[in-house]
Amino acid sequence: MRPIQARISIGAMAHNLRVARSYAGAARLFAVVKANAYGHGLSRARRGLAAADGFAVLTLEEAANLRQMGVEQPILLLEGIFGADEIAPCAELELWPVLHHAGQFDWLRRQPPVRPIQVFLKFDSGMHRLGFPLAEHAAVAARARNLPGVAGVTLMTHFAQADEGAGVDWQLQPFLHEVAGHGLPWSSANSAALLRYPETLGAWARPGLMLYGASPFTDASAELLGLRPAMTLQSEIIGVQSLQAGEGVGYSQLFRAKRPMRVGVVACGYADGYPRHALTGTPILVNGRMSRTLGRVSMDMLCVDLSEHADAGIGSPVVLWGEGLPVETVAAAAGTSSYELLCALAARVPVLEMD
Ligand SMILES: *Cc1c(COP(=O)(O)O)cnc(C)c1O
Repeated sequence: MRPIQARISIGAMAHNLRVARSYAGAARLFAVVKANAYGHGLSRARRGLAAADGFAVLTLEEAANLRQMGVEQPILLLEGIFGADEIAPCAELELWPVLHHAGQFDWLRRQPPVRPIQVFLKFDSGMHRLGFPLAEHAAVAARARNLPGVAGVTLMTHFAQADEGAGVDWQLQPFLHEVAGHGLPWSSANSAALLRYPETLGAWARPGLMLYGASPFTDASAELLGLRPAMTLQSEIIGVQSLQAGEGVGYSQLFRAKRPMRVGVVACGYADGYPRHALTGTPILVNGRMSRTLGRVSMDMLCVDLSEHADAGIGSPVVLWGEGLPVETVAAAAGTSSYELLCALAARVPVLEMD
């Protein structure tokens, strides 16, 4: 069998949820499990994050799957309903849709749910992606409260820079200023805001990334935050080459040896979810010690520098990211984010589930 494997730890997710809880104060927690739980598998996340107060997903299908798995907590649909045909299933499965444009109100008015539902009204406080303009808050909230079939309203916004120096204040202050008068519960915090800005907590926080054990920040590691990586992508060396000075390795011969050296070939490529744009020098663990990738990542293989790994050979274990090598470190070296790497784990990679 091809030696690549993703070890996914249910216990690490449970641990990270406890860490999230320790930051959350009185706020309740939606565990964000969209995108196949950031690549970790919806069913595994459901078990690891069973103690969450609710779950947040993108699609009706994900929500229905969670209900089928026995989830009884509230389920938030982060982008709400995509058509009037999704109202009935929302009521049936007791889902909480986000409402972010007027068309969704019209659908609800024409086809009121048979059972009253909770809705989240999303306001745009500066990200300029989804949501009603903050200036329209009074009219939007009034419309929502008057809709037939709406049992309760929570106000919501999303931050564009909670993980950066610019922070949340420029969005949070206008949001709080406008929504405070409604006396309604509100929700704003993603992982970064939950970890760094307690004033964002409100009634419900919505952490995703941190539950999988990655840090949203460049200036604070997951370890420093007390988080444990839930996914370790590992493989083995399946070939060894000896290069002479001047010889190249891989497609386009992007790396050339300056002196004679040994190169290991690892069974992991971009078709497994490893980033193709990772250049020579991306950190990688061989036999538990740091090395670097060499040259271009292939579909099924990549190369590592064994110059200082005399002990390594065919069968030596390699960690691409996870335990001992934070996914953030690999993401930074590859010019991408830990979100993208985790989500991109390919379906062909066998998963070993750990406690
Ligand atoms: C994905 C998402 C989150 C979770 O964000 P993290 O940075 O992963 O914690 C929270 N809220 C909304 C609206 C989202 O789309």
